[in-house]
Amino acid sequence: MPVTCVFGGQWGDEGKGKVVDFLAKDADIVVRYQGGSNAGHTIVLGEERFALRLTPSGVLQGAMGVIANGVILDPSVLRAEVEHLEARGYDVRPRLRVSDRAHLVLPFHPPLDRALDASRNATWRNQSTGRGISTCMGDKHLYEGFRVADLLSDRVRKERLLYLLERGNARLRALGAEEVDLASATAEVESWVEFLRPLSCDTVKFLREARAAGREIVLEGAQAALLDVDFGTYPFVSTSNCGVGGISAGTGLPVRSVDKVITVAKAYVTRVGAGPLPTREPGPVGELLRDRGKEYGTVTGRPRDCGWFDALAMRHVCALNGVDGVALTKIDVLQGIDPLRICIAYEVDGRRLEEFPADIDLLRRAKPVYRDVPGFTEPLSGIRTPERLPRRAAAYVDALATEIGAPVVLLSVGPERTETLTMGAR
Ligand code: GDP
Repeated sequence: MPVTCVFGGQWGDEGKGKVVDFLAKDADIVVRYQGGSNAGHTIVLGEERFALRLTPSGVLQGAMGVIANGVILDPSVLRAEVEHLEARGYDVRPRLRVSDRAHLVLPFHPPLDRALDASRNATWRNQSTGRGISTCMGDKHLYEGFRVADLLSDRVRKERLLYLLERGNARLRALGAEEVDLASATAEVESWVEFLRPLSCDTVKFLREARAAGREIVLEGAQAALLDVDFGTYPFVSTSNCGVGGISAGTGLPVRSVDKVITVAKAYVTRVGAGPLPTREPGPVGELLRDRGKEYGTVTGRPRDCGWFDALAMRHVCALNGVDGVALTKIDVLQGIDPLRICIAYEVDGRRLEEFPADIDLLRRAKPVYRDVPGFTEPLSGIRTPERLPRRAAAYVDALATEIGAPVVLLSVGPERTETLTMGAR
C-alpha cells in the first residue's frame, strides 16, 4: 500500500517505534506528522536500543525521514538526537527533511509548560511532559508561533525573535517562574539556523511528489488516539490530533491520500500521568504487568498504571480513524495469567455504556464489564508464524479482534524486529 498510517490506539507507549520500524522495511519515506519531542519511540536491533524523540523511526532502516509541518519541533533535541545517531554509525542527516512550516519550541516554552501546569488546580493538572509542546502549540494558534521558515528568514528572525522571547519571559514572570536568559536563549535559537538550513524544505511539495511517484510512505503517529485533543480523555490529553485526523493538517497531503490505517495496541493497557484508566488493575495483576512489561516511563522512570485490554475504548478509536487493522504488541507479557479479561462495556450508576463517553466524570466512575477468556502458559518469544501460536493465545487474539471489530494484522511477541508475526494466514 503506498500510504500507510500507523498510530497509537491507547494511551501511548504501545510499541509504535517497533511497529513502524518493522513496516518501514518496505517504505521509502517515514513521516512524523504531529506531536514533538514528548514522544520516545523505542527500537531494538539486536544488542542496540534506540529511543527516538523526533527522528522518524524508519530512518534506521534506510528510509527517508520527514518531520512534517504538524510536528512541534525542538531543534536542540533533534540536533542532539542526530548527533547521537551519527556517533552510533547512522548517518541520518542526508535522509532527513524538516518542514519549513514546522513550529519551533522556543527556550521559554518548556519552563512555561511546567509553570502553567503547576499553577493549575491539583485535580486538573495534565502532568505534561514539560517539553514545551503544549505552550508552543498554544502560541501557534494565538498567531505567536515561530516557524522554521521564520527562523531561516534573516528579516523575520530579526523582527520577531526577541519580541517573542520577551513575551515568553513576561508570561513566566506572571506565573512566578524563573525567566530565561535572553542572551543565551537568542544564541541558542541562532545556532539552529546552521543546523536546520540544510534539512529544511517544502515537505508538502516533497510528499506530494513522492506520492505521485508511487513511493511507499509510512505516516508515524506519536502519543495516541485516547490522548487526542478532540477525541481523547480531555483535558488529560496531548495538544494534537494523534490519529488520522492529524494527517492532512500535519503534512499537507490531501485527506484521501491514506490507503491503509493501522493502529498499535498493547494486549493490555497502560497509562502514565493524570487521567482516567477505567480498566486499571491496582492489585497483583497490575503489578505483574508492570514488572513483566517494564512499564516505567522511559525518561522519568515513573511507574505506569496497568490494566486489562479495553475493547470499548478501542472500538471508539477504530471507528474514529477508519482502522483497517490492529498491530497487537506485548502479548508475551500475558503468559501465565489466567483468566485474561477483556473489557467489553462500562457500567456507571447501574447503566451500561457501550460508547466511549465525553464526560470525564463518567469515565472516572466507569466500572468495566469483562469477558473472560482462558490464559495461555507457553512462552511466545520464539514463535515466528501464526500457525505456531499456542491455541489459547490465538483464541485470545481472536476474542480481542471480535470485541474490537477489526482484524489483528500484526502480532508482536517481543521487542526485537524479528519477533513480529504477520497475521491473516491462519
Ligand atoms: P512507543 O512510544 O509506542 O514506541 O512505545 P515505547 O517505545 O515507549 O514502549 C514500548 C516498549 O515495549 C519498548 O521498550 C519496546 O522495546 C517494547 N516492546 C515493543 N513490542 C514488544 C513486545 O511485543 N513484547 C515486549 N515484551 N516488549 C515489546
